[in-house]
Amino acid sequence: MSSSLPTTRLPAGIDVPVLGQGTWNMGEDRRRRSDEVVALKLGIDLGMTLIDTAEMYASGGAEEVTGEAIEGRREEVFLVSKVLPSNASRSGVMRACEASLKRLGTDRIDLYLLHWRGGTPLGETVAAFEALKQQGKILHWGVSNFDTDDMEELAGVASGEAVQTNQVLYNLSSRGVDFDLLPWSRQRGIPVMAYSPIGQGDLTRDSKLAPVAERHGATAAQIALAWTMRQPGVIAIPKASRPGHVRDNRAALDIELTETDIAELDRAFPPPSRKRPLEMI
Ligand code: NAP
Repeated sequence: MSSSLPTTRLPAGIDVPVLGQGTWNMGEDRRRRSDEVVALKLGIDLGMTLIDTAEMYASGGAEEVTGEAIEGRREEVFLVSKVLPSNASRSGVMRACEASLKRLGTDRIDLYLLHWRGGTPLGETVAAFEALKQQGKILHWGVSNFDTDDMEELAGVASGEAVQTNQVLYNLSSRGVDFDLLPWSRQRGIPVMAYSPIGQGDLTRDSKLAPVAERHGATAAQIALAWTMRQPGVIAIPKASRPGHVRDNRAALDIELTETDIAELDRAFPPPSRKRPLEMI
């Protein structure tokens, strides 16, 4: 059984943990597969029941790893997957979702995201998402890598107000969204999912984090994670395939950064003073 973590509320009224698990790079190598499954299962045990995956990751391999990890405990998990922009037409979304469901070994995705914007009109993708909702194949939908103007545009299409989240790059080294996208989202009650919260591992090696980490008896990765989750309405989805990392990430939730810590981190990683285009990887 999983233990419960602090939650944030999606616009639909569902509470989801503020700390989940990413899966990018999982499913690439058969020899690492069982370790990845073990890591995800441990994360679920520790309450990190929101799992983020995508049809793109390992060309479906990450969804298969996720499917294996959630087998027999589907009800404990809040499952997030993503459709590629090249599949974002009405028929493309339908086909892609069926394939994802099969790989995940489930009959529904809790939150289905458009991975990033492509050439398909937003209204067509949203209509397809709404049709999938009607069929019970997804419960909710959202977007990823949308800047503030994209979110404004989305709000203007039919059913666009049903968006549940925007998943964007957010960590100490990439914090442009602090300027406008995060306040915009908070004002509207739309939680943001912070991807690459540890900078794809780079922040573990950043000496600028060392003094704060030392004060808390924590690692740099834990401070980076605690920082992304310091404000309401942000869900962090670190990817960890080692059990020690999974445990450290769970423990990062218990770190309370002080005003001194935050000020020191602001000096080391200055907040944006003007609008910057949304970064993505
Ligand atoms: P990340 O979570 O910032 O970093 C992952 C790296 O950090 C891995 O090498 C991992 O190592 C290491 N790590 C994890 N926890 C650690 C800890 N406590 N101490 C030290 N090292 C630790 O990067 P990410 O995978 O790019 O981002 C997270 C998730 O966000 C992805 O997996 C994916 O689900 C999602 N994402 C979405 C998009 C999008 O366009 N929507 C883009 C990128 C990522 P081990 O694996 O060896 O444990």
